Amino acid sequence: MSVKPKPLGPIPQGYETVNGELAIAGKTASALVEEAGGTPLFVYSRDRLTGRMAMLRDAMPERLGINYAVKANPFEPVLQHMAPLVDGFDIASGGELEILRAAGFDLSRVSFAGPGKRDAELEAAIAAGVTLNLESENEARRALAIADMLGTTPRLAIRVNPDFDMKGSGMKMGGGAKQFGVDAQRVPALGRELIAAGAGWRGLHIYTGSQALSAEAIIETQANVLTLADRIAVDIGEALPKLNMGGGFGIPYFHGDEELDVSAIGAALSDRFAELPESLENAHLCIELGRYLVGLAGVYLTRIVDRKDSHGETFLITDGGLHHQLAASGNFGTVIRRNYPVAIANRFSAPVDDMASVVGCLCTPLDRLADRAELPRAEVGDLVAVFCAGAYGATASPSAFLGQGPARETLA
Ligand SMILES: *Cc1c(COP(=O)(O)O)cnc(C)c1O
Repeated sequence: MSVKPKPLGPIPQGYETVNGELAIAGKTASALVEEAGGTPLFVYSRDRLTGRMAMLRDAMPERLGINYAVKANPFEPVLQHMAPLVDGFDIASGGELEILRAAGFDLSRVSFAGPGKRDAELEAAIAAGVTLNLESENEARRALAIADMLGTTPRLAIRVNPDFDMKGSGMKMGGGAKQFGVDAQRVPALGRELIAAGAGWRGLHIYTGSQALSAEAIIETQANVLTLADRIAVDIGEALPKLNMGGGFGIPYFHGDEELDVSAIGAALSDRFAELPESLENAHLCIELGRYLVGLAGVYLTRIVDRKDSHGETFLITDGGLHHQLAASGNFGTVIRRNYPVAIANRFSAPVDDMASVVGCLCTPLDRLADRAELPRAEVGDLVAVFCAGAYGATASPSAFLGQGPARETLA
């Protein structure tokens, strides 16, 4: 071979093989595809969702609330499965609010962050008793006016743009000039204004970044968050009723990535919680996680439609692609394209004896699910599995592109 293979990301542990095939919830990939009516198909595993939450609860102090960030995966059966496992839901649009309403959820357990909330979204959220994480002074005043008009007390928290970010996070969402949150030094004045206006004061939301794999960086960030929250509360002159400490727990997508050490994070948090300042002693403390809770629970299955050679390289062309798995193609917030974990699902235990690039069916060279991957030799009709597909897959990809349409989804 003249070209060198590129490593694949680590396949999440615990996948079974049945009759030589990848199996999820005891069913082979081909059986799942047949049941669902075809490919492309996202399969999410109940057991993985449940197991992940149990492991995380075990690692974290009991006092810590754990919320689910709906944008990671809003598939209704997934939300229904998560509802009894988490303490609340975090949403980032009025559309997500309507998804939760339609699912019959208790909307008082919901908080709503995100810039650019329109009046109609503020109104729907306030009327439903959702906590608003306010992103600006302007938004705060609009929320107060809308609540006034509705004759209700709005539940209002301020999202803080802290003066620090999270080291090593894949996507930074705090520190410096940002469209998120209110700059930390202006938060006390706004907090006092909300309290004086008679709002239902719900404290602070401090979110600094996503996809961090370093426990040390998260521990440091959480310590900074607690210090900043205390400083702001003291300046406001009232203890905080609630502090959403953010999240950012990452998952291993790429070669060399390792699972985050959540027990180290939990131990450090327990220490912090044992010596909280007065301003935080009685606060409801929580984190909000998306991909960490659901990312590893999903597999994207797509069928090989063609196998071809070009200049000595092999291409496996599938009926899926970046229109369902934008992140795996390397076009969703990554600088350098690297391979996600990928396997030939119906040859899961076969020896690796081939090198091929797995591509999608779109007319763009960006549509690549695996680049020069070492895989068992695969043929037309075989199923490709892309792992780590439980978060930012179906709804974070341009499924209307080229008239392809959405993938199937199932919770197994
Ligand atoms: C996107 C987002 C999350 C979830 O991020 P993950 O990386 O999936 O955990 C949580 N909170 C806020 C405010 C977000 O914007």
